[in-house]
Amino acid sequence: MHLDPFELHRPASVGEAVELTRKFGPACDLLAGGTDLLPNYKMHLNVKRHLVALGDVAELRTHSLERIGAMTRLGELERDTAFRATYPGLAEAIGEVATPLVRASATVGGNLLVETRCFFFNQSYFWRDSLGYCLKADGDRCHVVPQKERCYATFSGDLAPALGVLNASIEIAGPTGLRTVNVLDLYDAAGDGIRRHHLAEGEIVTAILLPDSARRVRSTYRKLRIRPTFDFPELGIAASLDLDGSRVRALAIAAGGLETYPKRFDEFTAPLVGAPLTAEAITAIADQIMRSVRPVYNTFLAPDYRKRMVAVYVRRALEHLSGVRAEAAG
Ligand SMILES: Cc1cc2nc3c(=O)[nH]c(=O)nc-3n(C[C@H](O)[C@H](O)[C@H](O)COP(=O)(O)OP(=O)(O)OC[C@H]3O[C@@H](n4cnc5c(N)ncnc54)[C@H](O)[C@@H]3O)c2cc1C
Ligand code: SF4
Repeated sequence: MHLDPFELHRPASVGEAVELTRKFGPACDLLAGGTDLLPNYKMHLNVKRHLVALGDVAELRTHSLERIGAMTRLGELERDTAFRATYPGLAEAIGEVATPLVRASATVGGNLLVETRCFFFNQSYFWRDSLGYCLKADGDRCHVVPQKERCYATFSGDLAPALGVLNASIEIAGPTGLRTVNVLDLYDAAGDGIRRHHLAEGEIVTAILLPDSARRVRSTYRKLRIRPTFDFPELGIAASLDLDGSRVRALAIAAGGLETYPKRFDEFTAPLVGAPLTAEAITAIADQIMRSVRPVYNTFLAPDYRKRMVAVYVRRALEHLSGVRAEAAG
């Protein structure tokens, strides 16, 4: 496997990076740690002529408990004991990404924008050539749902659900200045596995912002994958909980690895606010969330199994956060 030729640009400031990204438009990609982009380029997946590398933009590399620069390496956050103690769920999610070697290069911004995955897409050029390609790269049909002209590639980042349940925001720099959005609003629920986020041309994620409330809640992240120290999530469940005695003050649950975007389940958690978090309530909410999701057959584990595991992982996450022991639904 080899890289096709590209032109590398190395801006020294966010302003320069935005200008280059705007100038080259769809002919360029941003390069952060390169742990997702470059393996994809080696497989000749949607290669661009220009790469705008963010490695020299010093302002993107600092982090505090309130603000994490987009170019902060996952390994740096892992080694930060105050960070781990303050955001246990987020720290769990970071520790579950790939391998320690990958996390030494991988960045927070790159993790939020990681390419969606599908076993018909994440294959060598020769493998795809023998099948005839697909909508997401070089082809004109979807092998997963051939009757639809839509891509179902799965959002497989670990951090987005964990940040979503903490109500984190992201700061975005673009040609018209800075804007801030809730982290899950970065993703396009009405889009597909190709057009998966709401970043406009020339826009760059510059930081993640964590609100005061993120430091008050308990949080956790549970990941289903095949090899425990390597694989992308087949399912990732993040949960945060704030209890007033046994009553729920705040509860959020989000999932990755199921659809084309990370998803929060407020419609099921909101009715529990003010009510006690009982074993029955945990079992019921786990069951409701499980029934609402529709994974497709484009990752390694069968969709039915991943769906059933949603209930198991939600239940385990809530048991861990509340100390309440629940029963699996019949
Ligand atoms: C063996 C292996 C296992 C892996 N396992 C996992 C896993 O379990 N979980 C997981 O989540 N990931 C996994 N990954 C994918 C990847 O390593 C991580 O998601 C990583 O955090 C990506 O960060 P990066 O800095 O390397 O991104 P890059 O590869 O540099 O970029 C990824 C994408 O984000 C875009 N991008 C980067 N920074 C910005 C920015 N600031 N603003 C806008 N767009 C940006 C790039 O243009 C590109 O499209 C794995 C990778 C490998 C090689
Ligand atoms: S879901 Fe379909 S279009 Fe998308 S990557 Fe897989 S095969 Fe290709």
